[in-house]
Amino acid sequence: MILDCAVIGGGPAGLNAALVLGRSRRKTILFDDNKPRNSVTSESHGFITRDGVNPQELKRVAQEELSRYPDVSIEKQRVHRINKENRLFQVETESGEVFSAKKIILATGFTEVLPDIPRVKEFYGKSLFSCPFCDGWEIRDRPLAVIADDQKAFHMAKVVSNWTNDLIIFTNGNKVLSLEEHELLKSKGISINEKKIAALIGEEGMLEKIQFEDETTVLREGGFIAAEWKQAATFHSSLEYTLNEQGGIETDSWQRTNMEGVFACGDTRIAGPSQLIIAAGEGSMAAIAVNAALIEEKFKQ
Ligand SMILES: Cc1cc2nc3c(=O)[nH]c(=O)nc-3n(C[C@H](O)[C@H](O)[C@H](O)COP(=O)(O)OP(=O)(O)OC[C@H]3O[C@@H](n4cnc5c(N)ncnc54)[C@H](O)[C@@H]3O)c2cc1C
Repeated sequence: MILDCAVIGGGPAGLNAALVLGRSRRKTILFDDNKPRNSVTSESHGFITRDGVNPQELKRVAQEELSRYPDVSIEKQRVHRINKENRLFQVETESGEVFSAKKIILATGFTEVLPDIPRVKEFYGKSLFSCPFCDGWEIRDRPLAVIADDQKAFHMAKVVSNWTNDLIIFTNGNKVLSLEEHELLKSKGISINEKKIAALIGEEGMLEKIQFEDETTVLREGGFIAAEWKQAATFHSSLEYTLNEQGGIETDSWQRTNMEGVFACGDTRIAGPSQLIIAAGEGSMAAIAVNAALIEEKFKQ
């Protein structure tokens, strides 16, 4: 069987793409190995009607909804190779199965590389987060940290100051703020600590203190940390699409990449805010764009 579309990645972007494709009677397989970056957290916020939902519960409900549509199925395995041969894409999974598809939607997300600070992974997703729009409300008005050792420090400090008046920015031994930025932050009551961090201290993921190499400590109850973002998926592939400066897949507003038949949506675009509702919206758009392309091909004279 030739699929109308192979959707790679089953987070909110891929799930919503598959839903719209299923409702459009398009033969679709959604491939997912269930390793989303938000697996470290138990609550997701900011999605109307879903505020506070457990991300795995959101996924379970979405998969249940997809099961109503006979043209959609889910393969719970990783895709490791995608090639275009003539006009069709060949999608190969880790188990060696190969599926042919007319169109591809990449919804594989990104993964973050956290700074090399001892115990940081214990706190990430529980009291240290990356996005204040996702998790700022839950830790509002507490003594918070922004941990950022690069150019993001100034921007993050300004944004996070919206949620607390007790904010310290930790640059982990680096001088990343200009004199003007120092002065401006101080004038708004934001403190700056440029010591090298030795460890994060706390129990069960809840931050209590930050300890420095000189053995001093500062009390903090949570905060935000700057991470590097990189593609979650690397394929052995003959696909050639353009990446943006951050390493995200570039698309137009219809989620089309510059390679014909290849669409991308959600975090994998590394462009703008990373949010469930935005990923889901882009997934819907990608599916509509796939439909538009298939309709054009059908009625081509
Ligand atoms: C700690 C934390 C808290 C967050 N909190 C919130 C919040 O409160 N509200 C909010 O809106 N957003 C939140 N986010 C962001 C949100 O999780 C992402 O924006 C959203 O998950 C992006 O959806 P996506 O579908 O693009 O990617 P993902 O959800 O990352 O899904 C990608 C899927 O593709 C799969 N995949 C990757 N490569 C392959 C492959 N080769 N083959 C098969 N499958 C593959 C992955 O395993 C994964 O299941 C948070 C993120 C983090 C890290």
